[in-house]
Amino acid sequence: MTDFATLGLAEPILKALKQQGYETPTPIQEQAIPYLLEGRDLLGLAQTGTGKTAAFALPILHHIATRPKKMQRYEVRALVLAPTRELVSQIGDSFAEYGRYLRFRHAVIFGGVGQNRQVEALKNGVEVLVAAPGRLLDLMAQGFIDLSVTEFVVLDEADRMLDMGFIHDIRKIMAVLPEARQTHLFSATMPSSIDELARSLLKEPALVQVTPESSTVERIRQAVLFVNGDKKKDALLMLVDNDRVERAVVFTLMKHEANKVADYLNENGISAAAIHGNKSQGARERAMKGFRDGSVKVLVATDIAARGIDVDDVSHVFNYDLPNVPESYVHRIGRTARAGREGWAISLCEAEQRAWLHDIERRIGKAVPAVTNHPYHSEESRLSTMPPPVLGGGRRQGRRSEKGQGRGRPSAGRSEGNAQQKMRRRFSR
Ligand code: AMP
Repeated sequence: MTDFATLGLAEPILKALKQQGYETPTPIQEQAIPYLLEGRDLLGLAQTGTGKTAAFALPILHHIATRPKKMQRYEVRALVLAPTRELVSQIGDSFAEYGRYLRFRHAVIFGGVGQNRQVEALKNGVEVLVAAPGRLLDLMAQGFIDLSVTEFVVLDEADRMLDMGFIHDIRKIMAVLPEARQTHLFSATMPSSIDELARSLLKEPALVQVTPESSTVERIRQAVLFVNGDKKKDALLMLVDNDRVERAVVFTLMKHEANKVADYLNENGISAAAIHGNKSQGARERAMKGFRDGSVKVLVATDIAARGIDVDDVSHVFNYDLPNVPESYVHRIGRTARAGREGWAISLCEAEQRAWLHDIERRIGKAVPAVTNHPYHSEESRLSTMPPPVLGGGRRQGRRSEKGQGRGRPSAGRSEGNAQQKMRRRFSR
């Protein structure tokens, strides 16, 4: 079996990995690291949870360790681009952890916070800069970043960056980078836009692909409950009010819905916090800290906000709303069953999202088992042939009933104690 030493990584990195408790490389690391140590460009098809961060961070740190260079004012030796501030800080933390026995400077930059401290960190040059594209361009325009000597470039979660509309920013950044550089592009999916981007940015790249989706998805126990829209909060409460739900992520489509769901859970004695784009950086960090230390049991998130969540111990993922893009379902449920553990992914499906469930089942290649013997079951939702909602319009909000969302526990929940107990047993790890 390959271990990190066989891959030829420098001693201080091996020491840090040992301290992290990493014994063997994950498949993406085992495949990608040799190419990256050789200096090849790389197209990596892998999603979060596969160990892809270390796959690109370790070779970069190895090059820094074995070929040290003095950085000048504002110079950057390795540039990592990632779509969200959460992901940017997590990647920054990973570099700090894996490189703790190396002498190197690193910085993270993202929007939504003042720039002074970020600029200060860049002043004497950095070996590693992890950046969100928008803030990077801002600081470049102000003359605080010099990419003329950059040797390593990573685009992480490239498909997400394109989804979020960063393509022009990426092109602008890539245009100023030296031709002679090593570029790594990581993406969970390979739509034609990524193929095009890869062709234009990478030179004879090695292709490395891991298929965590099937292996991770196999470990995730999935279920769907059909419910009416106005009973979803009660159904969710029934599901999360269970000691075996240690740490859960609940997904909603809309930011305001994330707030409402978190409020409802809190009112009913379940500690919950919402994270989405309208929350301040401080509020998001507090929520994530609470989630990590266990004081927040449930994180209610929209897809974009959840992208950077990197917590290994998520026991349950709940889709309060199904996603309208099947790929998002795979991303969402991949938040549980991390690092070899098992996990539950339970979805609520109302009539108007029924069509999305079909798409998801086609995407994952199997039916999501339906659970019907619970107090909120709606046969109408199960059999629905309604067209899916058009997102972004007022229709969803207009249709939504606020009934059953009052304070206190729903009476149905109380009288259905047995059914609830059964659910508890059913969805326990
Ligand atoms: P990533 O896909 O980079 O987000 O990594 C997912 C999780 O796996 C992170 O919590 C890493 O700390 C962890 N991890 C990465 N590589 C290894 C490894 N070789 N052994 C054990 N855990 C790892």
